[in-house]
Amino acid sequence: MAMAKIIDGKKIAEELLKSVRADAEKLNAEGTKPCLAVIIAGENPASKVYVRNKKLTCERVGIRSLEFALPEETTQAELLALVEKLNNDPSVHGILCQHPLPGHLDERKVFDAISPSKDVDAFHPITVGRVVIGNAALLPCTPAGVMEMLRHEGISVPGKRCVVIGRSNIVGKPMALMLLAADGTVTVCHSKTVNLKELTLQADILVCAAGIRGLVTADMIKPGAAVIDVSINRDGEGKLCGDVDFNAALNVAGAITPVPGGVGPMTIAMLMRNTILSCKLQVTGCNLG
Ligand code: ADP
Repeated sequence: MAMAKIIDGKKIAEELLKSVRADAEKLNAEGTKPCLAVIIAGENPASKVYVRNKKLTCERVGIRSLEFALPEETTQAELLALVEKLNNDPSVHGILCQHPLPGHLDERKVFDAISPSKDVDAFHPITVGRVVIGNAALLPCTPAGVMEMLRHEGISVPGKRCVVIGRSNIVGKPMALMLLAADGTVTVCHSKTVNLKELTLQADILVCAAGIRGLVTADMIKPGAAVIDVSINRDGEGKLCGDVDFNAALNVAGAITPVPGGVGPMTIAMLMRNTILSCKLQVTGCNLG
């Protein structure tokens, strides 16, 4: 049997970033400098890497980035005051608070405080509600990146059996909603799901976002399926890997995303795209709040 096509997320993301760059240049020429504010609190090393990548990508595409690195002991009130200040600053078009926050801080309260007009991560309840209804302008970056990959690869969703492993608010849930909006027939699996394999074997499109290395083995994949691995785990040697047994899955799947180089770069590209979109909407006075 033919080997699966490896979906090159890095390449697709680069194409997207080119168009983001052109948009940013156009806005600049019209006198608006698109700007993303990133808040990070504490010393989580993975968070620092993510924030750094976001900042570097902003620079590459011509988006101004502001970083607010707050100390571990920052209070909830200080954090909320910063969000309020950024909400009211017309030169800031997108605001995100890097997840996870130090334990004493309530992340949900921070997400809820970000103006829906500047909610480039799409975590605010109003934005989430719009995703549920199916009329959101700003879409959550990771699932939006997955949809973009499917589109790019010519993998059609209407009528397809889609199985999403994971039900987090950041990935699994919005992923399921977006596949549903695209006319897929969607099943969501989670930690209490009984007989996962029976369900995954039905999937034409399988999205894996459980954060468990080795969870998805080749015998759980329907021959020819599109397998999208969202997770970023580490293997025994500290190397990055997803949930899927990639090498074995290559012999079964029709198309598959690698980790790294799959969904990861798409997520950042969608964040850049959201920043441009929220900038355009604010410039035209179309307030999403
Ligand atoms: P992320 O933010 O990347 O989505 P989370 O850790 O918040 O990651 O969520 C992991 C999800 O994976 C949860 O919804 C959980 O129910 C699901 N999950 C964990 N273990 C299993 C399992 N063995 N089978 C199926 N789903 C699982």
